[in-house]
Amino acid sequence: MRRRPVDRVEAGRCRAALTLAVLLALPLGARAQGATWPQHSRERPLPRVVDPGRGALPVPPPADAIVLFDGHDLAHWVTDSGAPATWHLVPGQAMEVAPGTGEIRSKDTFGDVQLHVEWASPKPARGKDQDRGNSGVFLMGKYEVQVLDSYDNVTYADGQAGAVYGQYPPLVNVSRPPGEWQSYDIVFHRPHFDAAGKVTAPGRFTVFHNGVLVQDDVSLLGPTSHMVREPYTAHADRLPIALQDHGHPVRYRNIWARDLEPKR
Ligand code: MG
Repeated sequence: MRRRPVDRVEAGRCRAALTLAVLLALPLGARAQGATWPQHSRERPLPRVVDPGRGALPVPPPADAIVLFDGHDLAHWVTDSGAPATWHLVPGQAMEVAPGTGEIRSKDTFGDVQLHVEWASPKPARGKDQDRGNSGVFLMGKYEVQVLDSYDNVTYADGQAGAVYGQYPPLVNVSRPPGEWQSYDIVFHRPHFDAAGKVTAPGRFTVFHNGVLVQDDVSLLGPTSHMVREPYTAHADRLPIALQDHGHPVRYRNIWARDLEPKR
């Protein structure tokens, strides 16, 4: 029998210890909700496919919303380094991930927020699994609601469209076909930390995908991440929203936010 190299065994032990430490640091409700399956388990049941019906898009921003993108310019967005965003603009319509240019971040910062985002997977569809229409909406730049072409495309449950990536699969799969506009309506409550940096209240997500509830007030286990559960680390009360460049030309339009924790 082939033995596993010692460093992999050690890495596995470290991961297990880290996961345990993260779980023990969380309130009981969060543990009960999200930690029952290994991350990215292909055994985890896939959400049922449900036709979302014909919802009307775009959804106009309410009067008190901050419009982050209306199709006309990328003025509200910058790169990681703070330079002007260079994703492609389809004037009057959309912006499109320019693969290889990196994520973009909002200049505005938010804590608790209601966020509306419309997005469309590339058409024709290319690739499969995670390599198909992958992007993401990151609240506070750390907590991802996955964007993926999950129309007739199987991947692990906690990595499909509407998932809180690596933690919570969507309750149902209400994905529209590639090229069709879809919507996320996200209610996010930021995590809170005490003076020592320990989390006192986890972040929480409620998400509607194409008008259908897919995340029902779930408690974040920590920052969303791939292959490893990262523990919370204390951060500012307000941070930018980020959109992910995962190498696929996903389109976005009509992005607006209602600040639920306005600056005083
Ligand atoms: Mg993603």
